[in-house]
Amino acid sequence: MAQHHLNDETLLDYATGSLGEAPSLLVATHLALAPEAAREVRHYEALGGALLERLEPVAMESPAGAVLARIEAANDDAAPDAAPMAAAGAGLPAPLCAYLPDGLDGVRWRKVGGGISEYVLPIEVARGEKVALLRIEAGRGVPMHTHHGDEWTLVLQGAFEDENGRFGPGDIAITTPDDTHHPVADTDGDCICLTYTEAPLRFKGPLAPLFNFLAR
Ligand code: ZN
Repeated sequence: MAQHHLNDETLLDYATGSLGEAPSLLVATHLALAPEAAREVRHYEALGGALLERLEPVAMESPAGAVLARIEAANDDAAPDAAPMAAAGAGLPAPLCAYLPDGLDGVRWRKVGGGISEYVLPIEVARGEKVALLRIEAGRGVPMHTHHGDEWTLVLQGAFEDENGRFGPGDIAITTPDDTHHPVADTDGDCICLTYTEAPLRFKGPLAPLFNFLAR
């Protein structure tokens, strides 16, 4: 069943540093764009801090420790009252700056076809996992597909609509192998998303063999 928000269990895993680097980047970026979710996670961070005192040697070596360290370094560079959007990459949420030093304008997109472009982030992932920026041109869509694992789609710019509703900047769409959907970008501008997939997508329809090949 699709969700619009991260659940408490995921936020707790993030706050305690037990989430991998790839999903942690999605959570951190979502929190930078959605202040209400950030308030909620502070409670978990207080709890996580208490846990870390006991678990620190293990927690700091975890992949999530790596992304948190990068984010903290980025935050240290910013003024204490800086807006979530860092100056280094105009329009880029602070957690992404370490991964995209030239901002969204400097992204070397790979055209996938059908108005879709992709940029796979240089981030260590488990086998089958992928973290990528996805650009859907205005009015275009990702072909109908389902998933071999969970898929998190965080909107950075523009908006898209699918069978589960409409998602704008800061919204996160969580889909599972039970969901089949066809996300379509709004007609007034390109939609740029940060996506995390546990496994390749599974496309349906007449062009499915081609898209399934490209998605591997
Ligand atoms: Zn999907």
